[in-house]
Amino acid sequence: MPAQTTHAEAAQTLRLALPLMSQHGVPATPSHYAVFYNYVAGFDPALKEAFDQSVAADEPITEALSEDLYRRFLCGGGEERISQVNEAMCKMLLEISSLVKTAGGDASTYGGAIAKISESIQQSPDETDFKRALDELSQATLVMQTSSSSLQQRLSNSLAESNALRNELDTAKQEAVTDPLTGLANRKAFDLRMKELSATTDGASSYCLVMADIDKFKRINDTYGHLLGDKVIKYLARILKDSVKGHDLVCRYGGEEFAILLPDTPLSGALTVAESIRASVEKGRLVKSGTRESIGTVTVSLGAALHRPGEDADALIARADAALYRAKETGRNRVQAEKAAS
Ligand code: GH3
Ligand code: MG
Ligand code: MG
Repeated sequence: MPAQTTHAEAAQTLRLALPLMSQHGVPATPSHYAVFYNYVAGFDPALKEAFDQSVAADEPITEALSEDLYRRFLCGGGEERISQVNEAMCKMLLEISSLVKTAGGDASTYGGAIAKISESIQQSPDETDFKRALDELSQATLVMQTSSSSLQQRLSNSLAESNALRNELDTAKQEAVTDPLTGLANRKAFDLRMKELSATTDGASSYCLVMADIDKFKRINDTYGHLLGDKVIKYLARILKDSVKGHDLVCRYGGEEFAILLPDTPLSGALTVAESIRASVEKGRLVKSGTRESIGTVTVSLGAALHRPGEDADALIARADAALYRAKETGRNRVQAEKAAS
């Protein structure tokens, strides 16, 4: 084993060697450990080659094979090699000990146990002591594993609980700002966004509000019933959603009335969006689901207004509403822009 092996390298080699031994059911006695340690670290090319040949030939890696490799490649060094392994083991134990000491509780008990074992190996590195020390180490490891796995279980339970709570909270938050019939943003979400926009608008960017209202909706309800009326509202909501992009907000303002907020959009852009909505709604052919009876053409009227610097939410809504009213007044199924400022 090269003299320059560092503490961390020795620990790393041990971490690879021990699982390999346990995977093949080879007990962690000093001589077996020396074989596996040398193999993993690649210190002895001849041993490594012989080991790899057995693996390549699909030979089982057994205690007998390990003993054979020990006799052929390591035995010559006798005591010296075992004490080198002891030394590497001590380094690794000290490293684990210092690592777990910081973890507190069971971990510090474990750290103390390892430190004691490591000390006893250093004091009398003969094979019997080494084996006893390894037994003690595996006992301590078992205790540590049990307590750390119950700790892990508790941690993962709390994690699952807090994730579930967070999901519930997210759902509740989402529901508070969502219209249940259409899944669109509700009036509350609209008010919040209006506030945000008026707070962040510095005059350099502009935003528009479009108000939309289904034409003669009362007639649809009266003729086909409220349930079908609801379906028409949902249908319109789908068209509105599909007609806007990214950070635009479509909300159900109330009843059969909708508001669309278009950040960073000039009035001409808002009129284009509004006209495309109007045309899409007019094109739709709605039928009753059972009888396939046509319910005739559904149309929508829209009014658009551009936010003016310093204007509050109510004033902007009133101007968009006035434009919508003019769309109704001038025949419905049309888009009107706000009146130019006088
Ligand atoms: P206009 O073209 O002038 O807008 O006529 P309109 O009939 O659409 O307007 P009006 O305001 O007279 O009627 C709106 C109707 O919308 C009355 C109300 O019962 C109905 N309504 C409001 N909310 C809902 C809803 O959630 N579901 C259904 N089915 N109907 C609704
Ligand atoms: Mg209406
Ligand atoms: Mg209305």
